[in-house]
Amino acid sequence: MLVTGASRGIGRAIALAFAAQGDRVAVHHRNSPDLAERLRAELPGDGHVVVRADVADPAQARRMTEEVATALGGIDVLVNNAGIFVHHPITEVTYEEWQAVWRETLDVNLIGPANVTWNAVRHMGRGGRIVNVSSRGAFRGEPDSPAYGASKAGMNAMGQSLAIALAPLGIAVATVAPGFVETDMVTEHLKGERGDAIRTQSPFGRVARPEEIAAAVLYLASPAAEWASGTIVDLNGASYLRS
Ligand code: NAD
Repeated sequence: MLVTGASRGIGRAIALAFAAQGDRVAVHHRNSPDLAERLRAELPGDGHVVVRADVADPAQARRMTEEVATALGGIDVLVNNAGIFVHHPITEVTYEEWQAVWRETLDVNLIGPANVTWNAVRHMGRGGRIVNVSSRGAFRGEPDSPAYGASKAGMNAMGQSLAIALAPLGIAVATVAPGFVETDMVTEHLKGERGDAIRTQSPFGRVARPEEIAAAVLYLASPAAEWASGTIVDLNGASYLRS
């Protein structure tokens, strides 16, 4: 299995979960060779590999995917997890900054998964699984990070389209859409009063742990999950349900 953006956060938890069930894992990173190598060494079992690429770069995404297929003898599961979340309120940033963030966010969060997916599908047989890590921002709005919300809405649509396109090949495609998860990506958001407000959105009074997202990904990538193809799993601890 290949998980992108695996050196930390949700991707790291996903790599650990797959290795714990006996899978060989390709730990992908962009610029964190030490963290990725440390994780590879920590994973239970043998045969795990570390691969590097900027997923937004089509040539790098292709080379990386081929390396994984060669090392693992194919790609049975792809988890498109790598992503960025940039603060760019429309009333505060310059036009140039606005342009740059939109381009980078769509490149990394949407074109990146599209690049990796096109290549991975060519190394996948029947029973292959693709799981995309999207976000609640796709359907709830991200006022200070509109490019992020748009990129994740695009990812949801891509997943649904490919679920139809790849079903005849026996490949299932599903999406998880978590709200806030305790990782470095959102450390700043979870501080102080803002953090308290975010935590109390859930009646559990907390945000998600990376392992809870990994557990859902594990199911969606399992042989039993063909019938979950095309779904978008809203993992939000009963948040947003109060009237
Ligand atoms: P994170 O910042 O810890 O991890 C993101 C990973 O993506 C990093 O390892 C980073 O190196 C990698 N990455 C970024 N740009 C890349 C590129 N161009 N090429 C290759 N790799 C790149 O954050 P996380 O919280 O673990 O996020 C993982 C995924 O979960 C992301 O897609 C994110 O949007 C999504 N998500 C996170 C939250 C949250 O609250 N943390 C909520 C919903 C969805």
